[in-house]
Order: sequence, then C-alpha cells, then structure tokens
Amino acid sequence: MEIKTLDKLPEKIIIPLRQHRGMVCEPLVKKGDRVLIGQKIGESKDYNSSAVHSSVCGEVIAIEESAHPDGNKAMSIIIHPEECDETVAFSPCKDLKPEKLAELIKESGIVEHYGMPTHVVLKPKGKNIDTVLINATSSEWIGGTFKTPRDYASQMMDALKLLMKAAGAKKGAIVLRIDDKESIDAFEGIEVDKKKLRVAPLVGSRRIGYYFREQSSDIVVVSQKRIYGKKILNFFTYNVTGRKVDIGCDPTDVGVAICSIKSAKALYDAVHEGKPYYETVVSIEGFSDNMEYIRVKIGTPFKDIIEACGFTGEIGKIIANGVRTGVAQYTDLVPVTKGTTRISMQKPEEVIRDESVACIHCARCVDVCPVELIPSRLAVMADQGRFDECRVLHIDNCIECGDCAAVCPSKIHILQLIRYAKDAIEMAYEDMPSKESSNLKLGCACGGE
Ligand code: SF4
Ligand code: SF4
Repeated sequence: MEIKTLDKLPEKIIIPLRQHRGMVCEPLVKKGDRVLIGQKIGESKDYNSSAVHSSVCGEVIAIEESAHPDGNKAMSIIIHPEECDETVAFSPCKDLKPEKLAELIKESGIVEHYGMPTHVVLKPKGKNIDTVLINATSSEWIGGTFKTPRDYASQMMDALKLLMKAAGAKKGAIVLRIDDKESIDAFEGIEVDKKKLRVAPLVGSRRIGYYFREQSSDIVVVSQKRIYGKKILNFFTYNVTGRKVDIGCDPTDVGVAICSIKSAKALYDAVHEGKPYYETVVSIEGFSDNMEYIRVKIGTPFKDIIEACGFTGEIGKIIANGVRTGVAQYTDLVPVTKGTTRISMQKPEEVIRDESVACIHCARCVDVCPVELIPSRLAVMADQGRFDECRVLHIDNCIECGDCAAVCPSKIHILQLIRYAKDAIEMAYEDMPSKESSNLKLGCACGGE
C-alpha cells in the first residue's frame, strides 16, 4: 500500500493548543519566534492535558483562534514553515520507571484519536488498570509506517509491554481484525518470554481471559471482527474482556486501558528515538474508488492535503473522521490534529439534502445494527423525549456507528436522535453512582406520551 507525502510545504501550519480533552495548553512561544521540528510549543500543568509540539521548522507568525476539525474554533499557533529539517535534540529514554514513562507520554504529546491523553487512559486518577489492549483492528495504514509486517508486529509487542509498564498492568493483548491476514501472519508465532504465541480468534463466549490461561501467558494476540463507531470503547471492552461497562462509565472503570496503534507507535518512537508526536497518517476518501493514505505533519491544513491528492473538482462537503459519524467542515483551512483519522470529500451531487419522511417500518435499521438494538423505536422515543423508555431499550449500548441512518430509506436522522437522547440521559444521571441511577426515573419532556 502506498502512503503519499506532501511534495511541497503548506503556506502555513496551524497547531491548535487544544488537541486533547483536558485544559487548553498555554503557548510557550510568541509571535516572531523561530521554532524547530519537535520543539514543545504548548503545555499545561493540568494532569488531563498533553503537550503540543511544532511539526516544522519556521517562524511563529500568529497565535490566534483558528478553525478546529471538531467544528469549533481553538487558540492555535500559526507557523510559516521553512525548507529545513532541523529538529530539537531527540534523546532516546529506555529503561524508565513506570511513573517516568507516564510522564514521557504526557510530555511527548501522545493522545488517543478520540482526544483522551494516553497517560490518562493508562493512569486514570483513583482507578487501577490491570489490562491494556491495543486496538489494531484498523491497521490499513501500517504499510508506510513500518518497514515490514514483522517489524510492525515486534514494535507493537514492545509498545504493549511499555504501555503495560506505564499502567502497572499485569495483562495485555493486541486485538487484530479477523480478516487482516497480513497482520495475523505477522503476529503468528511471535515470541513473548521465549514462548511462541498463536493469534486466537475471539469466537463464541471465549474472551481474552480464556487465552491467557490456554497460552499460559500474560500477553496474548487475538482477532475479532472490526467494529465501526464513535463510541465503540465500551462495546469493545465487553467483546474482548467480557467486562460490562456501565452507562456513564468508561473502560478504565473496569480496569481496562485501550490504546490505538497510533499511540502505541508514538510511545515506541518516544522511547527508542526520543521523538514527540508531531506527524500522523490520515486516510482520504472521495477522490477515487480506493481509499488513499497520506503522512502529514500535524497542523497541515486540509486544503494542502486535498491539493496534494490531485483533487481539482468542485467540492460539495468536507467531513473530518468519516461520513457517518464525522463533522462537516465549513472551511478547508482546518488543520489535521492528533484526532484526525480520515478526510472525506463529497461531490456536490453526493451531498444528501433529502428531507426525512415517515418511517415505513422496513426494519432495515434493525437488520444492520451490530449491537442488536431497535433503532427505529429508539429514534421515535428520543424524538418524543421518552428517555426512560430509551434506557429500557438499552440505548446506552449504541456504539454510534451510524449504520442505521445510512440504510434508512426514509432518511430519518436516527443517529442524531439517539445521540440527543444519550446526551439527555447522561446529563440527568451526572454525578450519580451507577447503582443508584439505575433505579431512578428520568423526567419526560413530553409528559410520557
Ligand atoms: S442504533 Fe444505529 S448507530 Fe447505534 S449501534 Fe445500532 S446501527 Fe449503530
Ligand atoms: S430503516 Fe428507516 S424506515 Fe426502515 S424501519 Fe428503520 S427507521 Fe423506519
């Protein structure tokens, strides 16, 4: 698989000081400063925050609010890049103690694609992590990042041990996609503590606990079907470990830390090369029938990527992070951040503008739902504000994959309605322990009709 790169520097690089869920970073540079590749340019003392680094050499030309791919604006450091590869001195730091490793992750700016800093996932305050999972079910982009599939497997195994060490976890697993033959072949027979592992499929009721015992190893490699969706983490946790995550909770509440390949690779690079997280690979769809992949510096505007991919036609819509669940952009000057995984382009004629009409009870949404919900019913309940009934129908299990809305012939905005109800439920149960909240009744906006 070919991974493209930009053949010319963007006119400007826009690095948001908020690329994570915690406090916005404070800038460490000012207008007129010259910065180097890998230089820390923003940080926050807040534990839930993560440092930001310059991805280019150049001059800071402004620190101002700029478009952010989450649809809002964010204070950003704008750099005019120079044709220069000068980096700050990178120093590898192997054999770190667990707490120093967690600090390195924060300092290196490593963040999960959904915005949570990786050190917070591994060391959440007041919780203990006993199992670390690397979700490698979406690994199409690995070709350009690792020299060979075997190289990928050994780096991921090393990264898993580092993540486990940082978290203080005794068990760990790498989860591959069941049809990703290349990755499965790469991991098959890999040695851990002089034991050869086999890639085990998660079938039936067998979860990783079974394979830890069967392979007499604290580290296993398993495979499962890929699950798409914005909120897959809780479902993924259940599928892989068998631990159920309550509504309003996340995997760390049941002792599980989930990291992506990108953050695992970023940690590997930080430890072995001393390199912070300043570049990423994003997939581009909409130019041709095939997905394209491009390695870019964080802060590169979408506009430069679109041009580099050779797209010249009229664009109807640009969406960050997937057509079904992503965010439509109002400008192509929005930059790639640590959370950007995909840029989708739609031609004007592809943009869906149809008004939704009444449900025809075709049950297509029920057929496609991967977690066996009744989306049509949930949408009606949500629309009428009958949130208690949404809970009875297990709305919290929805992983927000958007499949139901995609197949609906009546163009009903099922996913938006479900999200609306989930937000309302989450707000209503905020600050209540899950045991207590499960016995409470929510108020109903429409009087229960
Ligand atoms: S209800 Fe819709 S968005 Fe939610 S999991 Fe089912 S198909 Fe996906
Ligand atoms: S797919 Fe659309 S029209 Fe068909 S049952 Fe579901 S909500 Fe109704």
